[in-house]
Amino acid sequence: MQIISNISEAQNELIQLKKSGKIISFVPTMGYLHAGHMSLVELAKKQSDLVVLSIFVNPTQFGPNEDFDSYPRNLENDIKLCQEYGVNILFTPYRQEMYPVNFQTKVLLNNLPNVLCGLSRPGHFDGVAQVVLKLFNIVQCDFAFFGSKDYQQVQIIKQMVIDLNLPVKIISAPIKRENDGLAMSSRNSYLNSHDRTEALILSNTLNLAKKLLKNGLTNVLEIIPVLEKNILKTNGQIDYIKIVHTETLQDLKHINDKALLALAVKFGKTRLIDNTILER
Ligand code: AMP
Repeated sequence: MQIISNISEAQNELIQLKKSGKIISFVPTMGYLHAGHMSLVELAKKQSDLVVLSIFVNPTQFGPNEDFDSYPRNLENDIKLCQEYGVNILFTPYRQEMYPVNFQTKVLLNNLPNVLCGLSRPGHFDGVAQVVLKLFNIVQCDFAFFGSKDYQQVQIIKQMVIDLNLPVKIISAPIKRENDGLAMSSRNSYLNSHDRTEALILSNTLNLAKKLLKNGLTNVLEIIPVLEKNILKTNGQIDYIKIVHTETLQDLKHINDKALLALAVKFGKTRLIDNTILER
């Protein structure tokens, strides 16, 4: 495995590989890798000749009161995992090179960031779009893999790719969960054992919604209070519970065919997200 931090070195290496006809898959991450990230690598390997994984804790997607400084980092362990899973190039750019002092360009989307997580994290998805566009231009991948755990992020990246005619195909991967149902996340490491147990209410609530739908409840105004009540059995503080259109992410009143159920709940200081597709 090659480990490259310098942007032009990575770009030149990937231009050469592309010229030689290699199909390139890309998995962008913020590191502190877990089996969820590695499930993207497994998918990526099947799709291409070589897999590039990036680790960059992107400052522009964190709000002023968010956890940029405390975001978990463990490069040594990440390198081991990447080697174990057969990543070909690990790209670990430097912050000063990604955002030099005179950096000026923003990537702003109009509608998709104005719902769900975008409401409680203003500017977050603009930062995500900005860094992903930069990474795509450096890596020049044929395929890029994103986890549907961050469902809104995937929709935003897909929209950016369409709007800006980017020559990359976006593939979204299923949510990888712990055996007890908790969606894997680097931020799970913040949870103390009490909150870790309480956080199981997230996947429990997704399953409850599936049951309600199976029992014929399709009116969103009736479903949401039942889900809220379920979460409030714990000390979790609800940021949102929403049932929305799977592509536009706009609120639905009624589940016709399928819908996205997405939720964000805080346990102590840790904000966790989860989602599922509800299908009739
Ligand atoms: P992050 O390092 O949290 O920015 O995540 C990097 C990529 O891994 C994103 O595309 C995430 O959606 C994806 N990812 C994170 N957790 C999971 C998970 N539990 N299952 C599948 N993909 C995930």
